[in-house]
Amino acid sequence: MKRFLAGLALALTIGVAPASAEPLKIVASFSILGDMVERIAGDRVELTVLVGPGGDAHSFEPGPAHAAALADAKLLVVNGLGFEPWMVRLAAAAKSKATYAVASFGINPREMDDDHAHDHGHSHGHDHDHDHGHNHSHDKQGYPSVPHDFDPHAWQNLANGVVYVRNIAEALAKADPENADAYEANAAAYIAELQELDAWVRAEIGKVPPERRKVITTHDAFGYFGDAYGIEFHAPLGISGGAQPSAQALARLIDQIRAENIKALFIETMSDARMMETVSRETGAEMGGALYSDALSRAGGDAPTYVAMFRHNVPLLVAAMLKD
Ligand code: ZN
Repeated sequence: MKRFLAGLALALTIGVAPASAEPLKIVASFSILGDMVERIAGDRVELTVLVGPGGDAHSFEPGPAHAAALADAKLLVVNGLGFEPWMVRLAAAAKSKATYAVASFGINPREMDDDHAHDHGHSHGHDHDHDHGHNHSHDKQGYPSVPHDFDPHAWQNLANGVVYVRNIAEALAKADPENADAYEANAAAYIAELQELDAWVRAEIGKVPPERRKVITTHDAFGYFGDAYGIEFHAPLGISGGAQPSAQALARLIDQIRAENIKALFIETMSDARMMETVSRETGAEMGGALYSDALSRAGGDAPTYVAMFRHNVPLLVAAMLKD
């Protein structure tokens, strides 16, 4: 069972009364982790997802309903790497005693690119980045403390997705030992599927000559994807997608698109299209569509699962990079 807490609507708890014990109450910070928990645990847990389909975890503002969902949760599944800067405050407000399962634990974190760090330094106003998980306590129960300049979008590399699944399955098994065998079996099948998907992504990207593998997206959500699969991504809005780029930064991007003859121009489903439409007009590069980066679609949409997100994004990317 899963429910989403988006905006002001606190959904009714659709009770699935288990035959024996109360199901384990789990909160996942955003839709991709929610999907992973669902694949591993199925109906054995009661899952609440804080930032649901289409939501932006970077700029999320939790309310009282979210705190209530945390209050009696046993397990809190988070990305870490500063992706959920609001989690420390929310968990404190909820007086949460939940154990954290940090999905990205053990991956090789990607440093934010220098030019993005530079752009951020000159952005006006919105300093979203400054409280990125700066939880200075050494409490292992707390949200993991990281330097704010790591790129949090690690799930965009499927090899990291496998690590996420292992971490989540391990945390589930520890919190609910009775169902540990089921969690481990589901995780193993899921990991096999992700490895197969990874091979497919490599084969698809392999169709694009290396010199054409350049893509513009709105915010810098595909750094891990680019590193893993050999594509150069440029993004005027930087890692967290907050502040608008300066006119200078946008002009630099437009020059670069022209100079390098970049054809692939994308927005992410959760971001504003207007800036990219301007870039498209200025450069003649056509919009390649909308990529799913930080949030899944609703059920029935283009990317309701982590696997479907890659199945949706990759053909769009390949088609745009191959365009003449
Ligand atoms: Zn993002």
